[in-house]
Amino acid sequence: MEMWWSVWFFILGTVLASFGSVVGYRLPKKMKVMGVERSQCDHCERKLSWYERFPIISYLVTGGKCRTCKKRIPVIYTFVELATGGLYAFSYLKYGFSVDLLLACSLILLCAIIFVSDLLYFIISDKVLIVFFVWFLMLQVLFEYRSWLDAIAGGLLGFCFLLLLAILSKGGIGGGDIKLMGVLGLLLGFQGAYLTLMIASVIGVLIAIVGLLAKKYNWKTAIPFGPYLAVGALVTFYYSVELLERIF
Ligand SMILES: [Zn+2]
Repeated sequence: MEMWWSVWFFILGTVLASFGSVVGYRLPKKMKVMGVERSQCDHCERKLSWYERFPIISYLVTGGKCRTCKKRIPVIYTFVELATGGLYAFSYLKYGFSVDLLLACSLILLCAIIFVSDLLYFIISDKVLIVFFVWFLMLQVLFEYRSWLDAIAGGLLGFCFLLLLAILSKGGIGGGDIKLMGVLGLLLGFQGAYLTLMIASVIGVLIAIVGLLAKKYNWKTAIPFGPYLAVGALVTFYYSVELLERIF
């Protein structure tokens, strides 16, 4: 039975991610999200058949390319869909049916959307952030999964720390990152926000070093910070207890 539920959660994750990643970059570009356009190729606008749109299967059948214009449907979509499905199943196995599972699935979806839109298009949609901000607030009101003081402190720490960094670096950090970190902090609490910022910074520094060494970056390359925050938030959500024990 548990096995079937985890399969079901895997499918749910891939479907939500496949929808969410489209929403994430289409909303800010004022493209239609619902209806016919959802099923068109972004390049040649041909209506895609069902298997071309279906997560994973489209990649297996068409090699991830549009059959008409041969433009690649970016690999990152498939990767994020698979990762989201995997994390949904993992969360179900880790938490069972509980508030934690609901929080995990919400956070994963937000991270999937940010990951795609920020990495591919340097976009973190305000509308997406507002929806998740309200949703997390609602969950906090309903379940009070952490103290209000902790939730507010987490949100403020995330928001203010990156705002300060943005001012000091004169725009090195985008407004989207600042707001995103505020939303994440609300869910993760004060220590969680702190941990997320630390993990994201470590990943950011490591990738910057690799990029510089491989001469893919120079000192002025704009690096999207949102995906690092997303990864940091997920690691924090699952392992904050273990990680905090080691640090303090
Ligand atoms: Zn096409």
